Amino acid sequence: MGAGLTPGGETGHVPGSVPVPDASSVPGSEDTATLDVAIVGGGPVGLLLACLLAQRGVAVDVFEQRAAPAPLSRAIGVHPPGLRALDAVGVGDAARAAGVAIRDGRVACRGRVLGALDFDEADPDLPYVLALPQADTERLLAERLAELRPGALHRGVRVSTIRQFDGRVEFAVDGDGADAADGRPVAHSARYLVGADGVRSGVRAEAGIAWRAHRGRADYVMGDVPDRTDAPGSALLHFEPGGVVESFPLPGGMRRWVAMTAWGTRGAGDGRPGASAALIGIVAERTGDDLGAEVPDARAFTARQHLADRFVAGRVVLVGDAAHEVSPIGGQGMNLGWLDALHLDRALAACLDGASAVHRGPLDGYDRTRGRAARRAIGQAAFNMSMGAPAHGLRLAARNAAVRLLAVGPARRRLARAFTMRGL
Ligand SMILES: Cc1cc2nc3c(=O)[nH]c(=O)nc-3n(C[C@H](O)[C@H](O)[C@H](O)COP(=O)(O)OP(=O)(O)OC[C@H]3O[C@@H](n4cnc5c(N)ncnc54)[C@H](O)[C@@H]3O)c2cc1C
Repeated sequence: MGAGLTPGGETGHVPGSVPVPDASSVPGSEDTATLDVAIVGGGPVGLLLACLLAQRGVAVDVFEQRAAPAPLSRAIGVHPPGLRALDAVGVGDAARAAGVAIRDGRVACRGRVLGALDFDEADPDLPYVLALPQADTERLLAERLAELRPGALHRGVRVSTIRQFDGRVEFAVDGDGADAADGRPVAHSARYLVGADGVRSGVRAEAGIAWRAHRGRADYVMGDVPDRTDAPGSALLHFEPGGVVESFPLPGGMRRWVAMTAWGTRGAGDGRPGASAALIGIVAERTGDDLGAEVPDARAFTARQHLADRFVAGRVVLVGDAAHEVSPIGGQGMNLGWLDALHLDRALAACLDGASAVHRGPLDGYDRTRGRAARRAIGQAAFNMSMGAPAHGLRLAARNAAVRLLAVGPARRRLARAFTMRGL
């Protein structure tokens, strides 16, 4: 770990739950920050931001509480703007080599195709969505960060007790990787602290930023199996009366299946046992596809949507899922977070170049612009989720007619652009 101060020692801070005051309201103390930027959270967004800043020569470190990368499969879709973000830090080609290109999509109901989408209509330069498991994406980013700034990623360390002063942020780090001689938290400081610590962000809570629920909540079950479909390069969306079933190609001849479930009670979907049998049964019943005898990594999850009231509090900034939770059904939280990171990289560079008094301008711009983008993404995901909700009779007929309309003419191009995250 880098040089640290012991809380309760030189700075007089006591570990505990201390509210984060606004930087401008704290009486000035001298600027002794040891890092330019500290990033809490080594998920895909924190790692990408760290690579961007390290490329500029910024002194940036990432503090990640997990001792090892997360094994659970989450994001697989890397959309054209996300791929450009990976290109910006030099891992785009490695991602293309490891992933598989999804070039088109098909929407069906009860065995009939309602419409088709070609992703080259949205972005002729990158005419596909890349499918790459999140663990592989994170590995590529962590390896790149190790090249750009060796030792910048600290695993097995948890950040807490964040306090702002004029010109710097101080925070406590503990855990097996913290190098604390006596087991006590080690204090660090940085000119800016970024909370890239996910949906349950402790940084957001310490900064006193409210987290508001938005429309769009439902339960799903998902899992990866060998691809037995007749469309190995295509996304398949089944808008069935009982609820949506989606499937996407994965590298290595695998396919990700996701199905809406009727469990529906608040939060009951998270990690529900029996997910394998449920997924196999639902897919067979709604689409006729046979997933085999078992889906070993099947799991249930509840999709929710939330937005932070603001993304900036003094020198503390939120990015990625810490700032917005977007439903993975028709939403792309990781890609949205990478677009935040591209903007935040420029804003922080401008702040670090200037005197400490001028930091508000670029960060205010980040707050406004990315807040708007997150609201649009949440609205779009809520619409997409409603399209996949159970529907019968007239409602089903109206929905199928709407899908047919969306899949022709100019609407088709707009839909492809929305699917591939243009305008976010
Ligand atoms: C089933 C599913 C499928 C998805 N599919 C897609 C998809 O196809 N495309 C897409 O774009 N998105 C998808 N998403 C969303 C995507 O997974 C998230 O948006 C993405 O992981 C957010 O990245 P992040 O870095 O902001 O946060 P996270 O990935 O949550 O990383 C936050 C990190 O912070 C660490 N941390 C937390 N607190 C502390 C602390 N106090 N100190 C130190 N470290 C801390 C955590 O250990 C974690 O590693 C999906 C999500 C789910 C659940």
